[in-house]
Amino acid sequence: MVTGIFYVLLLQNVNYDYIIIGQGIAGTMLSWFLKKAGQEVLVYDDAQSNSSSKVAAGIINPVSGRKFETAWLYDTIFPFAEKTYHEMEEALGIVCFHERLIHNIWSSQQMEDAFNESLKTNPWLLEPAFVKGANIQLNALLPAWRKKLNVKEERFDATQITITSTHIEYQNIKAKAVIFCEGAQSPANPYWRKLKFLPNKGEALIIHAPELQTNNIIKKGNITIVPMGEDLYWAGATFSWDYTDALPTESAKESIAQSLKNIPHKIIDHIAAIRPSGPDRRPLVGMHPHQPGIGIFNGMGSKGCSLAPWTADQFVKHLLEATPLKPEIDIKRYFNALR
Ligand SMILES: Cc1cc2nc3c(=O)[nH]c(=O)nc-3n(C[C@H](O)[C@H](O)[C@H](O)COP(=O)(O)OP(=O)(O)OC[C@H]3O[C@@H](n4cnc5c(N)ncnc54)[C@H](O)[C@@H]3O)c2cc1C
Repeated sequence: MVTGIFYVLLLQNVNYDYIIIGQGIAGTMLSWFLKKAGQEVLVYDDAQSNSSSKVAAGIINPVSGRKFETAWLYDTIFPFAEKTYHEMEEALGIVCFHERLIHNIWSSQQMEDAFNESLKTNPWLLEPAFVKGANIQLNALLPAWRKKLNVKEERFDATQITITSTHIEYQNIKAKAVIFCEGAQSPANPYWRKLKFLPNKGEALIIHAPELQTNNIIKKGNITIVPMGEDLYWAGATFSWDYTDALPTESAKESIAQSLKNIPHKIIDHIAAIRPSGPDRRPLVGMHPHQPGIGIFNGMGSKGCSLAPWTADQFVKHLLEATPLKPEIDIKRYFNALR
């Protein structure tokens, strides 16, 4: 006997509604909202240990730049992200959202002055040197959500897709569309390689620092220290456009350790990954202009934890209800490159 949703899918001649490639924070959020909307989803993820989402500290920082200005669309995306993470915590029986103050240790008078100027009007800042932030414990969220998904733990080969007018087909699996959430690997994807990506490398240390004793995020210059529990802290990150591979380097380790020299600590791990960024630092979202059934959800840059929930919700409304995407995130802005 064929039941409910499966029967409907058979009628449409597909096994799944959507195939998602990649389960970093992008694929996680997209699959969450698609499943919430009743869609049948299959995820391929090859479980690379150095994906961006596995290396990130998950900081959500409301301000950016030297003037402590509120980040792009923050008043919309943060409340949405907070609500989404709490819903996922409840559904999955985990804790992953940690509200935290970001404590700035000034490295120049200029920065302190800029903070005090912004403090006059910016509700996300608090005297004397705090920002109201948060961090997402991705190593709790991603594995817990993965258990609820249909996941194939293997590499998806985009050259093997067959596109028809009604569906796409991959190794005898049919779906309405395949959406690539491949992070920094999208530049190698034949459907998307003409897009301009500006990936950059980041490295961080995991340290044991029992004397630090704080629940705040500490920010000093380019280094941010994030509590992980049990006297462990994430300390990073470096930022480089110029790199040959995604492996940890001695020079980055030394530079982070130098910034930590006043904090007694032992280095437990040294991690590195490539941030998936686009040229305008906005998400890359939408369906390919010439290849039906092929989509992308990428470009989270250094803000995946704050951007991914709202952006995924927007994409799902676009896919299922034809709601237009905001021009700043719509892949249409790069259609010339995809001709
Ligand atoms: C050092 C560092 C610190 C960071 N700190 C923060 C932070 O504090 N806050 C924040 O918001 N962001 C931070 N970021 C950025 C954040 O990590 C990214 O925005 C986010 O993780 C990107 O998620 P993603 O899902 O797009 O990509 P990824 O996390 O890279 O996920 C892509 C997934 O797809 C899989 N995959 C790719 N291609 C295929 C294929 N063909 N077949 C099968 N599987 C495939 C990969 O294995 C991977 O699991 C940081 C990044 C770095 C490097």
